Amino acid sequence: MTGPIQGNPFSLNPAFCAHNGVIALSEVGGEVCLGMTDPSDALLRGRIERSWPGLRFRFQAVDRDFFALALSRLYAGGEGECEAPEANRTGELPLDQAEEDAPIVNLLNAILLEARSLGASDVHLESSRGGAAVRFRVDGKLRSGPSLSAERAASLSARIKHLANLNIIETRRPQDGRMAVGGLGRPLDARVSIVPTVYGESVALRLLDGTDSPPDLDALGFSDRELARLTGAIGSRSGLILVTGPTGSGKTTTLSAILRELSSVELKIVSIEDPVEYRLEGVTQIQTDDALSLSFDTLLRRIFRQDPDILMVGEIRDAETARLAARAALTGHLVFATLHATGALEAVPRILNLGVEPYVLAGVLRLSLAQRLVRKTCPRCRGSGCDRCCQTGYSGRTAVSESVIMNPPLRAHLESGYSGTAFSALAKRGGFKPMLADGMEKVSRGITARDELLRELGR
Ligand SMILES: [Zn+2]
Repeated sequence: MTGPIQGNPFSLNPAFCAHNGVIALSEVGGEVCLGMTDPSDALLRGRIERSWPGLRFRFQAVDRDFFALALSRLYAGGEGECEAPEANRTGELPLDQAEEDAPIVNLLNAILLEARSLGASDVHLESSRGGAAVRFRVDGKLRSGPSLSAERAASLSARIKHLANLNIIETRRPQDGRMAVGGLGRPLDARVSIVPTVYGESVALRLLDGTDSPPDLDALGFSDRELARLTGAIGSRSGLILVTGPTGSGKTTTLSAILRELSSVELKIVSIEDPVEYRLEGVTQIQTDDALSLSFDTLLRRIFRQDPDILMVGEIRDAETARLAARAALTGHLVFATLHATGALEAVPRILNLGVEPYVLAGVLRLSLAQRLVRKTCPRCRGSGCDRCCQTGYSGRTAVSESVIMNPPLRAHLESGYSGTAFSALAKRGGFKPMLADGMEKVSRGITARDELLRELGR
């Protein structure tokens, strides 16, 4: 049981893998990534390291589902090979290229599987002097992945361009696209951005789990108080609800969770998104497309004829979209929109600056919510770092937020114009509690760490 293991990590007997909950995922840059269902099994890790003293290992925690999937591929593939390269099966690549590309197909699949097992939102492939590095964004922070030779990085980028229907030989101009990757158990969609750099290309993949539905609204981590304010406002029949926060602050997830909660046979819900991140049953979802001149404002103008009750505008970034969203709210629709602003109070001057008149905003605004995501302290090691959290001390994220609920005094104030200090004083009287206070409450309950909160809030 404790002797050395024969063969190489990729020729492990499937029965051995199944028994021990370990499986080789990828080997790149001389480092073998092994998925383990229980990475704290030091005996097994030691045995693996002793069996192949010449290899470097990375032990990656994988959940049971992922493990079962990887294992079934191993059984199906015989000699511990990855599945037959897609190119051979579908003939999507010319046959003379297929053989050369097979390792690249497997390399991309291994990287994407690793990204999924880490719960990564993005994968970056960045060229530098003499090579390239893969990094994964997990819980909002980048984490190192494998290093690649410049040649393999170029092949990988070509494979990605091929899947995204981009020009494979173009390496001097930025290209954007979208790809769907099969052979990974669940299908995987990714938005692709490729930009030339001084050393080669920089490839960014935003992973979109297009088949996933959003989490429940009450599973996003909002405090009871903030959740009550939010659910109160979304019960309105009409009006404007603004959600603000920087990119990656969880705005889209919150809005998708709200729309899912509101969806019913009696309501027509239309959303305009860039990109569509969740598929929502009962919601007509439309993707903006700059190449086809389908921007937020053009689509919004058309959508009134769709007879909607509820509208979601992925992002208000120009005066025309702001005006149309306010008009929709004025004419009896419930409108949700995101906006770039630093906080719930700051959303008001931001939308006024986009040309919406104060008295119009007074008539339509119901709630302004601002949110950030902070990493949760790992419940297993309480932040000291363990295998489960890849030594980061954190596991998963939770929302911290602040909200302004419009009430008669705030409305009266806006009708007569707008002053930041007066508005903020009235909002506080109406129960506004700053995000920092909401977050400190989570710190005191051990949900997150003070440093993490302050860093995320930029304090
Ligand atoms: Zn931990």
